[in-house]
Amino acid sequence: MKIDRIETFLVAPRWLFCRVETDEGLVGWGEPVVEGRAEVVRSAVEVLAEYLIGEDPLRIEQHWQILTKGGFYRGGPVLSSAVAGLDQALWDIAGQAYGAPVHALLGGPVRDRVRVYSWIGGDEPGEVAEAAAAQAAAGLTAIKMNACGRLSAIPTPAEVDAVVSRVAAAREVLGDNRDIALDFHGRASAAAVRRILPEIAALRPLFVEEPVLAEQAHHLHDIVTASPVPVATGERLYGRAEFLGPLQAGVAVVQPDLSHAGGISEVRRIAALAETYGAVLAPHCPLGPIALAASLQVALATPNFLIQEQSIGIHYHAGSELLDYVVDPAPFQFVDGHINRFEAPGLGITVDEAAVRAAARTGHAWRNPVWRHDDGSFAEW
Ligand SMILES: [Mg+2]
Repeated sequence: MKIDRIETFLVAPRWLFCRVETDEGLVGWGEPVVEGRAEVVRSAVEVLAEYLIGEDPLRIEQHWQILTKGGFYRGGPVLSSAVAGLDQALWDIAGQAYGAPVHALLGGPVRDRVRVYSWIGGDEPGEVAEAAAAQAAAGLTAIKMNACGRLSAIPTPAEVDAVVSRVAAAREVLGDNRDIALDFHGRASAAAVRRILPEIAALRPLFVEEPVLAEQAHHLHDIVTASPVPVATGERLYGRAEFLGPLQAGVAVVQPDLSHAGGISEVRRIAALAETYGAVLAPHCPLGPIALAASLQVALATPNFLIQEQSIGIHYHAGSELLDYVVDPAPFQFVDGHINRFEAPGLGITVDEAAVRAAARTGHAWRNPVWRHDDGSFAEW
């Protein structure tokens, strides 16, 4: 079997899909994307495709090594995301070729269902109580929300209190049997986070995410020791070596993105590295159905898995939705806050190719907002 053709599709709301076709008619799908830079990743996929055409799709590890390292310069969001999407597509093909779901090829399921969380509150969180109540009513056992919008480098008492009161409002609605994860989105300074965390510790969040930017990971140890709140990070890290420092600093949760950190092949290895530190995996996934399916396949086969992000109803996606691109949305149905184990071969979903091709005729030009502080200076989004 040989790879015959590789196509890419830019589809709303802000995604890029790739389709890998073999000479035997098997088709695998992947989602190589960096949100806001989808066209750049598309170019990277086209360059990497030069190598893959004519190759045996089942030599996934060999291709991962050459796609990642064979260009001399390596890593970073664009190249690692391009490799990630192609890697997902190759695993999809392998599963179909062997007649097995990807998690079976990864050693078999270690769980029967995958716990997921939903987002509430939007970019600048408000009306948290109402949104949390709606998710609880829908059966979700965990939610995630942004801790804050724009945040001063040294937050005022009012800014600190606003974070605390939002978490408190969610906790009051959700009670003690559901979880609240809090995303700082890299918007806080180390000083701000060390001020805020002790004040929210009593509300017992599941974890705080990206308390500081990846380039300030040298602060993570101080942040971990500032409070008993578990610290999570990793959506802007692109390979196992980049997770070593945060794990050594004591983070409790690693959050590689299946579409950014080298795909199924590399996220499996990141999970294994985390396991040696007693840390757990909670993959980042505000993306489409292929990235989510790849995440779920890894979750099903990974012992040190915590919870899965998913984007159904997320605030970024006005007008189009994850389920628009699959023939049958049933596999993604939530049952008591979980997604049940996928049984179909490959990634376990059937991409609606006609819907993808139709959406790609329009494409998208999604860019993230650029925020400014009150004085006009740049603010982290
Ligand atoms: Mg995040």
